Amino acid sequence: MTSFPRPPFYAIIGHPVSHSLSPLMHATALKARGLPGEYITVDVESSQLRRTIQELVEKGCAGFNVTIPHKQGIIPLLSRTDEEAGAIGAVNTVVVRNGELQGYNTDVYGVWKSLEPYADRIRGKHVVLLGTGGGARAVIRCLLRNFQPSSLSVVTRTPERGRELVRAFEASLSLRVFSFNDSSLGQLLRDASLIVNATPVGMTPNVSDSPLPPTVSFHRDQIVFDLIYSPLQTTLLKSAASSGATTLGGLEMLIHQGAKAFELWTGKQMPLELVRKVLEERLRSG
Ligand code: NAP
Repeated sequence: MTSFPRPPFYAIIGHPVSHSLSPLMHATALKARGLPGEYITVDVESSQLRRTIQELVEKGCAGFNVTIPHKQGIIPLLSRTDEEAGAIGAVNTVVVRNGELQGYNTDVYGVWKSLEPYADRIRGKHVVLLGTGGGARAVIRCLLRNFQPSSLSVVTRTPERGRELVRAFEASLSLRVFSFNDSSLGQLLRDASLIVNATPVGMTPNVSDSPLPPTVSFHRDQIVFDLIYSPLQTTLLKSAASSGATTLGGLEMLIHQGAKAFELWTGKQMPLELVRKVLEERLRSG
């Protein structure tokens, strides 16, 4: 049984969810902006999702984040979704207004803010994306909207999920699907200007794992973006950096998707530098 604070309050719902950095991020931002309200963690299994959402609304929750495994399951419980959430089929932020639930996907914005400084190195170039889940879909949507790459190769261990992506996005982008043991993977990776890891492989506690074998080499004209933010530098990123590639971790994406949610709930800007400092300290201290 969850106990709720006095309204207004905010929350993250997921299962498991105790590892989330969102409570620290939003509590820091609310305090820095002098805004009332707490941000709580609600661990809820799928069978209890509907009941928990009703309870959150009744108790005065002003908005909440949604994480694994509810990003898709929440959609039928909402009054409406924004364009990004509709295109991706996943919601990570909900605004509660006059008892109505409005769903958003701010991950797309997080990806955009991470890649924006490198637009010229992505536009018209080849991209390789590892994974086909919610994060991968946010990456594809962002690439389509903002960077227009020439082509996209998606690498997956589940071909059916790859085919779903082709059906969803091929009208707007040249998209092909490969398996992790495809003999052409080495060449695909060499030809890519941007390589994105949207799998959890290499995430804490399995920090020595990498989604690509150690034989894969990178080069200085490449950008390697790992959506993982814990650890700050994954084994994949260390390997890419040692070959001179530009590397990006998932922390900026995390901060910017959170900043967009904060803005939707409060109408205020998140204090980005303070939040970055606090989250980096937490991630460095383990
Ligand atoms: P998801 O929807 O569960 O998708 C995970 C994807 O990874 C699926 O395609 C899955 O393949 C693949 N995968 C899982 N284990 C694998 C393995 N051992 N080998 C190869 N592929 C594997 O998860 P998600 O929400 O997209 O999250 C993916 C990663 O992105 C996580 O590390 C998450 O923390 C990170 N993320 C970061 C941010 C941020 O703000 N920085 C935001 C969103 C996600 P199958 O379909 O075959 O299972």
